[in-house]
Amino acid sequence: MRRLLLALPFALLPLAVAHAADEHDHDHEHGSLGAHVHGVARLDMALDGRTLELELDTPAMNIVGFEHPATTDADKMTLALAKETLLKPHALFSLPETAGCTATRQRVESTLFGDKDDDDHDHDHDHDQAGGDATEHEHSEIHGHYQFTCSAPNVLNKLDLTQLFKSFPATQTIQVQLVTPKRQMGAEVRPSNPVVKF
Ligand SMILES: [Zn+2]
Repeated sequence: MRRLLLALPFALLPLAVAHAADEHDHDHEHGSLGAHVHGVARLDMALDGRTLELELDTPAMNIVGFEHPATTDADKMTLALAKETLLKPHALFSLPETAGCTATRQRVESTLFGDKDDDDHDHDHDHDQAGGDATEHEHSEIHGHYQFTCSAPNVLNKLDLTQLFKSFPATQTIQVQLVTPKRQMGAEVRPSNPVVKF
């Protein structure tokens, strides 16, 4: 689904423009998140007809509190519980009831779950980051892909992320980019202001 979302004109959005300006070669980016900042997650949202697609990219730190491979039973349990929560889209994303949205697909991926890293670039290559922080510990991310089908997409005018913040309180900011037939916009939401209106 990442390919599908990237095919949409996100490049016109302010955040994407700012990001593209300092990294021209997308093949060398770290996944689709761009910057990996603990506490910050990214949510791409696209409404096309009756189909609403959401893609969540977040440092694993925000979700499970660590980014190293799980070795202890406690870590494995934390991961399993997080995955279970992430696979319940209706418990994470609150949409107006009148829009009649039903989750039709959900998928969660992370190297921490044993999934293969699907980044385009080769992880053995050095990162050319200006800050020279390539020697820091290895980071991990968690990706969630969700699809809803909405019976009345025209009344879809907000997305409430309260439950997502409550489920994963280490998440301090979610950078939202959305595309609907009417508009495209970027927004930053926080636990104190968790609703995106569009
Ligand atoms: Zn990290």
